[in-house]
Amino acid sequence: MTKLYIVATPIGNLEDVTFRAVRILGEVDLILCEDTRVTKKLLQKYNINKPTLSYHQHSKLSKTEKIFDLIEEGKDIALVSDAGTPTISDPGSKLISQIREEFGTPGSKSFEIIPIPGANALTTALSVSGLEADKFVFLGFLPHKKGRQTLFKEIAESKRVVVFYESPYRIIKTLNSLNQYIPGKKIVIARELTKIYEEIVFGTAEELLEYFETNPDKIKGEFVVMVDKLN
Ligand code: SAM
Repeated sequence: MTKLYIVATPIGNLEDVTFRAVRILGEVDLILCEDTRVTKKLLQKYNINKPTLSYHQHSKLSKTEKIFDLIEEGKDIALVSDAGTPTISDPGSKLISQIREEFGTPGSKSFEIIPIPGANALTTALSVSGLEADKFVFLGFLPHKKGRQTLFKEIAESKRVVVFYESPYRIIKTLNSLNQYIPGKKIVIARELTKIYEEIVFGTAEELLEYFETNPDKIKGEFVVMVDKLN
């Protein structure tokens, strides 16, 4: 039976990978990577020497057909993204759905898609937030223009904790919007999780704006923003 493994990789600290993920990456015939240069750092650390092929959101149909051919040849494949769990704000879901369409009749004995769980930025951030995370809404990256204002209104009225990903280029703009729409709510920001400059800060949007504006060296890296629910 041919296998496609969807393998979670670290979100920063290369030690945050499971024994099973390391074993699978060392066993498959090919590793599909969002960026082969990024994944090679992980493979080098664990002395894994396997062929890699780039697969990302702009990959052409010819790449998908090549992957279909490899599956037909019976090759086992792993799919990884640059960080964390593939398909969570990362490429992979389109490929998985195309493969299911092509090969995956229910109960098919010739082909299997297997998850290898591991690191993920949103659950890691929630775990240290102190917010009630038994129920939450995840928005991925906020839209830059269309629908942005509507989304802020929804966040303001949400009866569940809202989590989203943000880049250093937009974090100040986003905090300004949060300050406009939900001035009093508690916000937790997790930055550079598992890395040297890891930082978890909390306060109202106004307090966080002041913090980042007085510490511009901290407007760097990767951010997860968590907004408390309406009480
Ligand atoms: N697939 C990944 C996952 O499982 O979390 C997410 C990929 S998404 C393209 C990248 C975004 O996730 C970053 O812009 C940031 O918002 C968040 N992120 C990833 N790694 C992070 C980290 N170490 N600390 C904080 N946020 C992180």
